[in-house]
Amino acid sequence: SQKYNIYIIYMGLLKKNFIFQEVNKLKGVGSKLSRYLKNKKIEKIKDIILHLPYSETDRSKISELNQLEIGKIQTIKVIVKKLNFPRIRNLPNRIMCEDDTGKIDIIYFNSREGYLRKIFPLNETVIISGKVNFFRNKYQITNPDYVTSIDNQEYVTKNIPKYNLTKGINEKKYRQISEQVTQNLPVIEDWLSEKFIKQNNLLNWNDAIKKLHNSDESKNNKSKSFRRIVFDEICANFLTLSENRKRIKKEKKNKVFNEIYAKRIIKQLPFQLTKSQKKVLDEINIDLKSNERMFRIIQGDVGSGKTIVSLISMANVIEAKYQCALMGPTEILSLQHYELAKKIFKNSSVKVEFLSGKTDPIKKRQIHSGIKNGEINLLIGTHALFQKKINFKKLGFVVIDEQHKFGVKQRSELAQKGGSNCDVLLMSATPIPRTMMMSNYGDMDISKITEKPAHRKKIITLSKPEKKIQELWPFIKKQVNEGNQIFWVCPLIEESQFLDFSSAKRKFDLINKKFPNLVGLIHGSLKKEEKENIIKSFLNKKIFILVSTTVIEVGIDFPNANLIVIENANKFGLSQLHQLRGRVGRGTKQGMCMLLFKEGLSKNAVKRIKILKNSDDGFYIAEEDLKLRGFGDLTGYQQSGNKNFKFADPIIHEDLFKLAEKYIYQTDKYSDQSKYNFLLKLFDKAEIINIKEF
Ligand code: ADP
Ligand code: MG
Repeated sequence: SQKYNIYIIYMGLLKKNFIFQEVNKLKGVGSKLSRYLKNKKIEKIKDIILHLPYSETDRSKISELNQLEIGKIQTIKVIVKKLNFPRIRNLPNRIMCEDDTGKIDIIYFNSREGYLRKIFPLNETVIISGKVNFFRNKYQITNPDYVTSIDNQEYVTKNIPKYNLTKGINEKKYRQISEQVTQNLPVIEDWLSEKFIKQNNLLNWNDAIKKLHNSDESKNNKSKSFRRIVFDEICANFLTLSENRKRIKKEKKNKVFNEIYAKRIIKQLPFQLTKSQKKVLDEINIDLKSNERMFRIIQGDVGSGKTIVSLISMANVIEAKYQCALMGPTEILSLQHYELAKKIFKNSSVKVEFLSGKTDPIKKRQIHSGIKNGEINLLIGTHALFQKKINFKKLGFVVIDEQHKFGVKQRSELAQKGGSNCDVLLMSATPIPRTMMMSNYGDMDISKITEKPAHRKKIITLSKPEKKIQELWPFIKKQVNEGNQIFWVCPLIEESQFLDFSSAKRKFDLINKKFPNLVGLIHGSLKKEEKENIIKSFLNKKIFILVSTTVIEVGIDFPNANLIVIENANKFGLSQLHQLRGRVGRGTKQGMCMLLFKEGLSKNAVKRIKILKNSDDGFYIAEEDLKLRGFGDLTGYQQSGNKNFKFADPIIHEDLFKLAEKYIYQTDKYSDQSKYNFLLKLFDKAEIINIKEF
């Protein structure tokens, strides 16, 4: 009966720190089991706390043998009558049992005789729980989940949580492990006050965790206990961002300029800046002049004029005798920025250079020395800008374009690299809803460019069933004859590179037959360089129709492309579709977007098309997309990096996001930082902001 006693952990481990140790510190967990647990991302003891059951098995009722239901998990109380261990290999061991109402066989494959004799003492009563089968006119249970003496009956006859497990760990084994943790939770001093917990319909931490493991509360994402863990998770996220911000803002700087350069540039532009651009420029200038470092992100649709704004603000920094760096995600996009910068600084003494991995060695060396001696004022390029060899004489401003792949950790590293005199500006063309903005960029100040340059015409969005694709050819022919260029997007088939390639290839062949030598193909298995070459030949008008699966970079200007055809458009999120269509209509011609659909559109799909047809506002579309997501479309969001959360859902738990925002950013609770260290460690945030001990 000792076997099922609750496992007692060494007293030394009972401190709150024990949950941050590796799982092999638990009784019964060796290296093999550790490895299996790792498959489920369970490495530390605290990961067991966060690994919630998805359901539970009711083993509470003891059934008599004549009431058994075949195929169900049931618990029985029977007397062991006979044990049968055949000496012939492959025949199972059989234990024959009975109660007052009937008989049952318990079957074991591959179990040792000694062990079975121990747990099935002859003529004694045992409790057995497992799935009941019927075989050759007799009930049987094969490899039951539990066998125990009556003394230990309560260990089995109850609701037992069911966890998502992997090969090598069964329920019984995992239960021995998880109960060591959940029944010995460290008693922590809650970082939330009792009053706050009550007011907001939450639970205290210890009770919440116990509840989540002992009932089906974890299935209900609105239960108090689940809300508590969600709130904690959001807070851990916000605290990390807030701490990152504090660190960056702590360092003081001093830049002096009077905007002479910038004003001259603005005057020389062939167009008027939009109101939005002017506002954002003001926000940036206030930051640049302030003695706190800038840590800001500009959000604005493709083509809203972010890059121009960043270049104009650089003029100020250069006037203050600092160097600037502008990093783009790829060679082509960075080159376009370089071209734009050269135009803008044409009539000035500002020296601009371009650097990428492909820059030839002699030129590279020149640039290295120009950067070091301060001759070069503005360096534009790819991530090559931040290699170790590059030593700026006096770097004062770093701008990073299209950085939605940057996490908090990378941002924090980047800010450190620039040094305390360096202002940081990110630019993103992915409009994301407010809750996501908060949880992704809560450490940054946000500037939004909400309007597009006036001359830009709204893109005309049309839709058509794929069946009627024939009607499209004359239209496309007309475009090509007029010298217009066309994007043709097929959704990426993520499961299989082969399928992905073959479907795009088939489309390419079809179109190429109609427009020989005018079509290019970009697909997932091409190397980055090959992709760039094809994009270049599209830019240089060597080809007129570009078929692609992988999404072509957001920021590149293709002034001559005015039609984008999107196949199987329902596969994309609304925001993604909006971004895709933003790739056309950037020149003077009217942009058009043709959405092709498979037959039988759902109501929801029709709604989505309508939103796209009617609106041109990326922010609005992102919000609508999020609302509609409830109807089952997640695609657009994986991209926008919202996999930050294990428990929290921006729609279901919107109130908790708002609450956490108020709690972390608006009240000064965070002044006593140490009380949150446990929380930050629990959600793996401590490392990001360098908390080691507590
Ligand atoms: P983003 O970086 O937001 O995609 P860019 O700064 O690259 O946008 O601008 C896109 C294009 O629009 C560029 O060719 C730029 O010269 C032009 N542009 C920017 N602002 C304006 C404006 N206010 N009026 C007219 N054209 C503009
Ligand atoms: Mg851009």
